[in-house]
Amino acid sequence: MKFIETRGNDGQRPSHINFSEAILGPISSFGGIYSPESLPDLGEDFLQNHLDKDYKTLARDLLAAFEIDIDQDVIEKALSLYDEFDDNNNPVPVNKVYDDLYVSELYHGPTRAFKDMALQPFGLVLSALAQKRNENYLILAATSGDTGPAALETFKNRENVQVACLYPEGGTSDVQRLQMVTEDAKNLKVIGIHGDFDDAQKALKQLLGSDTFKQKLQEKNIFLSAANSVNFGRIIFQTIYHIHSYLELVRQKAITLGEKVYLNVPSGNFGNALGGYYAIQMGLPVEKILIASNNNNILTQLIKTGSYDLRNKSVIATTSPAMDILKSSNIERILFDLFGESRTRELMLQLDKENHYQLTDEELSEIQKIFVADYCNDDEGKKYIKDAFAKGYLMDPHTATCFKAYETCRDKPLKTIVYSTAEWTKFSPVIANALTGEVDTHDLDALKSIAKEASIEIPGVISDLFEKEIAQKTVIDKENIEAEILSFL
Ligand SMILES: *Cc1c(COP(=O)(O)O)cnc(C)c1O
Repeated sequence: MKFIETRGNDGQRPSHINFSEAILGPISSFGGIYSPESLPDLGEDFLQNHLDKDYKTLARDLLAAFEIDIDQDVIEKALSLYDEFDDNNNPVPVNKVYDDLYVSELYHGPTRAFKDMALQPFGLVLSALAQKRNENYLILAATSGDTGPAALETFKNRENVQVACLYPEGGTSDVQRLQMVTEDAKNLKVIGIHGDFDDAQKALKQLLGSDTFKQKLQEKNIFLSAANSVNFGRIIFQTIYHIHSYLELVRQKAITLGEKVYLNVPSGNFGNALGGYYAIQMGLPVEKILIASNNNNILTQLIKTGSYDLRNKSVIATTSPAMDILKSSNIERILFDLFGESRTRELMLQLDKENHYQLTDEELSEIQKIFVADYCNDDEGKKYIKDAFAKGYLMDPHTATCFKAYETCRDKPLKTIVYSTAEWTKFSPVIANALTGEVDTHDLDALKSIAKEASIEIPGVISDLFEKEIAQKTVIDKENIEAEILSFL
C-alpha cells in the first residue's frame, strides 16, 4: 500500500511513499501529512473469521491487509509487546457498565494510558527500521502528561534511537512526572522546563525547524524525528482495537454480527477517532462515532456547524488535560478522505493563515453522516465519575466526557462502545475530588483515598514510582534546551 499527500504534491517531494518512509518522515508537501491511498476492504467474512481469534491474530491479519513494507519478524516482535499488558490473552478488555453502554479499556499497558496501544509497537518498528537502514534518530517529544511516559517506555534501551523529552516542571501530575524522571536508560533524556506546556511545545517546534540544530545533529550522524500522533505508524495500530471491541460485543452476545453500534471517543488530536473512521471504511458496522470533548470544544463546534474557528481562542486548562487541544491534527486526514487534496490544502492553509475555515453545507452533511459531537465540562465530568462509581465502575475524567455524548448524541437505541483512555491512577486527585469532595490532594493521598473508597489496591507499577530513585534531575530554563540536548547526545 502507498501513502499519498493530504495537501497535494509540490513537485519536490515524492507523491507516493511506502509505510516505512511515512513513519520516518511524516510531513508532506505544503505542510501536509501522509494518508493511505486506499484502505483494505475486510468484508463480513473477516469479522466472522476472527470471532474465535485472539487480539494478536486480529492485529496480524489486519496489518497484512494494509500490505505494509515491514518485515514479518519485526511485526511479530512488535505485536508480542501486547503480551506484556495486564491480561496476556486480551490487552483490551471490554466491560458492560450500563444496559447498552460498554467500556473498552485501552489503558492496560505499561504506562496506564491509551498512548501505549500505539506507541508500544510503534517504538519497536521505528527502532528496527533505523537499524536496518543503519541510521540514528533523535526523537523529540514535548508532553503535558501521557505521551512522554509512553514514548520513554517504548524507546527505552532500543537501538539506534535516542529520546529527549521536555515537560513543564509543575505542569504534570505527580504520577506522570515520576513515570518520566524515574526512567533510567542511557538513550533517554528527560528535561523539565521552567514554564508551561506551551513553552515546552514552542521550544520543541523551534528545534524541529532549526537548520543549525539539524546541522549539528548531522555532524553527529543523527536524524531528527518526532513520535507525535500524526505519524501513521501510530494510527495503524489504532484501527485494531475498534474492530476488536466490536468483536468482543458479539462474543459477549450483546450484539449479533452485522448489527450496528456507536463508537464513543474522548478526543484531542483525533488519532483514536480516526482509527474508528478507518475501521468503518474497512467495513465495521458502526452507526456513528460520538466525539467527546471537554471545554476546549473546537471539535464539537466543527461537527455541529462546519466552522473550525481558532480566533480569540486559547487553550483552557481542564480536568481532562490530554484533551486540552485546539489544533486537532488528524482532522486533516478526514478532510482529505472526504473532500480530496485540493480542498484539504485550501482549508488547512486558510486555518494556518486566518485561524479559521468554514465547510460548505454539503461538506458538513458528509461529516455528520459519520460523526456527532458534544462536550462535557469539568463539573459534569465529576458527576459522571460519581454516578458510574455508584454503579460499581471506576473511571478517569477523560473517559467521563464520553458519558455526556452518550446521553445527548444518540438517536437510536444501539449498543455504545465508550473508549477509556486512562486508568484511575493517572488522574487520581480529580477522581478523589469527585468521589469524596477532597481538594488539593497530592497524587499519593488521592490514590490512597480512592483505593480505600473502592476497596481496591493501588497497582504496583504506580505505588513503586514513589519509592524509585529519581534518575532524571535536569530542570532548566527554556533558553538552555538546545545546549542540554546536544551535550546529552
Ligand atoms: C491522548 C489522549 C486522549 C486523546 O486522544 P486523541 O487520539 O489525541 O484524540 C484522550 N485521553 C487520554 C488519557 C489521552 O492520553
